[in-house]
Parts: sequence; structure tokens; C-alpha cells
Amino acid sequence: MTPNIPKATAKRLPIYYRYLKILADSGKKHVSSTELAETVKIDPATIRRDFSYFGALGKRGYGYDVSSLLAFFKTTLSQDKLTNVALIGVGNLGQALLNYNFHKSNNARISAAFDIDPQITGLIRSGVPVYPLEDMQEQLRLQQIKIAILTVPAAVAQSVTDELVAGGIKGILNFTPLRVTVPENVRVQNVDLTNELQTLIYFLQHFEHNG
Ligand code: ATP
Repeated sequence: MTPNIPKATAKRLPIYYRYLKILADSGKKHVSSTELAETVKIDPATIRRDFSYFGALGKRGYGYDVSSLLAFFKTTLSQDKLTNVALIGVGNLGQALLNYNFHKSNNARISAAFDIDPQITGLIRSGVPVYPLEDMQEQLRLQQIKIAILTVPAAVAQSVTDELVAGGIKGILNFTPLRVTVPENVRVQNVDLTNELQTLIYFLQHFEHNG
């Protein structure tokens, strides 16, 4: 059972997991919050607080047990089972995400892609079958897919989202600039690359140090 943890803590879990795995692979048995803090660039107090949500308490001068923390994070992050993900819209960005192998860094992979363009549907792109949109709900159910990546044009983002929700999707990684509306039990993570770049440009222009 995963305890009810703050969102900010949840976001840090994959970072902890990745570094704990590196430590375990290098044969390290214990790690202190200070040591971990230096590697992951998160302050030790935050790490101690995060870990305390899981009842993991480090001992003074001994630190945390690497293998038990790792086992815990592995289950919490569902790293021990493969999560199938759908991708909707095989345009430039969609195709790039298909090429990108999520499977290398964690246990999630895009197992089905969907599009309306008859030039691409029925093909296998980067090892992933591209189905026509009409088949989406059926495939989502058959493959028990609960997570979708949205890379369709903004103009159709809401209607595709409605279909995804009707198909039982519980989480959407939204790459479109549109803020889609979903029922309460569905979670949306927005990734607006253009916006991120604009923000960075803005910061550089306004807060640049002189000299
Ligand atoms: P990107 O925005 O990823 O750079 P692009 O400019 O190549 O993409 P877009 O017009 O944004 O192309 O469309 C992205 C993809 O979404 C295309 O392959 C298009 O066929 C597909 N698409 C458009 N409408 C729908 C829809 N209703 N359902 C599923 N896919 C769609």
C-alpha cells in the first residue's frame, strides 16, 4: 500500500530510485541523507522528511539501508512491472517520443499508437503499431492501458481526451498547449515545451547578471 504522500515528495521518488539503484549496483549497503543529498542535489532535511513518509528512519552514523529502500521504491513506483502506455498523434513530437525508448530508464513503454492519418495507420513505427483512432477504445481495453501521451493538434486535444477518458484512461501526459478538462479521477500532467522555452528566455532576459 502506498501511503498518502505530498505531490512534491512523489515527484522526487524517481530521482531517489535512480540514485539508490546506482548505489546498490556499486555494492553500497548504507547511505546517509547527507551523502544522498550531495548526489541528488536535494537538501538532507527534505530527504529525511520524504523518507519519513514511508516510515523509513535512518540510524545516526549508519544511514539508510540501500537495499530495503530500493525494494520499497521499486514497488511504490511500479518499477517491478511493465506499464503499457498509449500515444495519440504520431506527428513530429509523437514520432520523437516513439523513437525515445522509455524502457531503458524505467519500466514503462509505449505499446500502442493512434492516429487519423491513413498514411501511417496500420504501420509499425519504431516497433510500435499505429492503430486508427476508431480502434482506440478497443485497444486500450484489450491492452489494459491506463496512461496516454497526448501529442495531437491542440484543436482536437479535448475531443481526444474525452475519448481517452471513455476508454478508461486514468493518466494523461499532455504535450498540447491546451489545458484539457477531465473528471476528478483522471490525472493530467502538462508538458508544454514551447512554454518552458519561453520561460527560460524570459528569465535570461530579465534576470541576467551583469558581468
Ligand atoms: P507536432 O505537433 O507533434 O510537431 P505535426 O506538426 O507533425 O506534429 P500535427 O498537425 O500537430 O502535426 O498533428 C500531430 C499528429 O496528430 C498527426 O500525425 C495527425 O495526423 C494526428 N492527429 C490529428 N488529429 C487527430 C485526432 N483527432 N486523433 C488522433 N490523431 C490526430
